[in-house]
Amino acid sequence: MEFCWNCSLKEYNTFGIDAMAHLLVKYSSEGELLAFLEQYRREMSHLPLLHIGAGSNLLFLSDYSGVILFSEIKDIKIESENEDAILVSVGAGVTHDDFVLYAIQHGWYGLENLSLIPGQVGSSAVQNIGAYGVEVGDLIKSVQTISLEDGTCKTWNHDELAYSYRHSIFKDEAFRGKYAICHVVFQLKKRFTPCLSYGGLTSFIQAKNIQQETLSALQLREIIIGIREKKLPDPKVTGNAGSFFMNPIVSNDILYRIQKQYPDVPSYVVDTEHVKIPAGWLIEQCGWKGKALGPAAVHDKQALVLVNRGGATGKDILSLCKAVQESVYEKFGMRLSPEVNFIGGV
Ligand SMILES: Cc1cc2nc3c(=O)[nH]c(=O)nc-3n(C[C@H](O)[C@H](O)[C@H](O)COP(=O)(O)OP(=O)(O)OC[C@H]3O[C@@H](n4cnc5c(N)ncnc54)[C@H](O)[C@@H]3O)c2cc1C
Repeated sequence: MEFCWNCSLKEYNTFGIDAMAHLLVKYSSEGELLAFLEQYRREMSHLPLLHIGAGSNLLFLSDYSGVILFSEIKDIKIESENEDAILVSVGAGVTHDDFVLYAIQHGWYGLENLSLIPGQVGSSAVQNIGAYGVEVGDLIKSVQTISLEDGTCKTWNHDELAYSYRHSIFKDEAFRGKYAICHVVFQLKKRFTPCLSYGGLTSFIQAKNIQQETLSALQLREIIIGIREKKLPDPKVTGNAGSFFMNPIVSNDILYRIQKQYPDVPSYVVDTEHVKIPAGWLIEQCGWKGKALGPAAVHDKQALVLVNRGGATGKDILSLCKAVQESVYEKFGMRLSPEVNFIGGV
């Protein structure tokens, strides 16, 4: 276990916000976490407690005058397998993309489209990360947690996890911040069937002269990494947290209203009555793409991404967030909801 008092969080969030935590605790097993939680209850239960991952979906609005937990549980263990599928348990502290590569190298498939998404495996199960037509929740069989309130262990089966677009039960008001995820059990396939339903993937593959029938999982991973690297800023170079806002899901009536003025509005069918409209398109129509507000800016290649141009505080990013929300509301009558988790007050 490692304790860092008055700890700078700059390296613990991809926005690169230089906030401080009263205490950051790194643990590498369930036993260490349970021991710390006992100490916490005895000595510091007046302080707030927050579990973070790699900080790629967090915005620190101020210093955090509490205790931050960080998992370094990193084991990967096969639980069971047959000819077609494998159940594999992965420590919450494993880097998600390392596991994607590990799985492909071991002939376990399903995660390829989620290549290069930053963050840890534990958080992926909180966030239900998704990209290119795949959501991680569909591949999660169960999640093992420890209650931060009383230290009890629980296994949550897939059906209890309430996965939907960027949502899990751990984001519900009643459960938020109450559990440490320790292990995630994935159910992966042993036969590779590429998921190319997302617009554009098939044409990228054709452009590379690769036949769909011969496409390997590793090739698909590399194609996805290539697309992502062109589109998204590297947080090691430019601070950001990926998509800052969720894509709004609206009724068909709202889509028809927008189509009257903007016939080319992109949309993706959610069900017979609803569509998803890309938030990046809405922001771009408001003229924000590439625009800055002080040290915070809207990325010039992808309007859904807000960036730290250097030295921004959480409040600078929040001011830009509010200005963008205001513009979109004025133009389209829609309130964009942040995907990023705001930590601390203003
Ligand atoms: C460049 C870039 C691209 C991105 N692209 C995508 C994308 O394509 N698709 C997508 O879905 N997301 C994307 N993201 C967002 C981000 O990568 C995901 O949300 C990711 O799952 C966050 O993981 P993290 O480890 O950084 O978690 P953090 O941001 O640290 O935390 C996220 C949430 O999980 C909770 N949490 C973390 N670990 C634990 C734990 N062990 N136990 C309990 N709670 C925990 C935190 O309290 C917080 O609520 C992108 C981000 C960046 C910077």
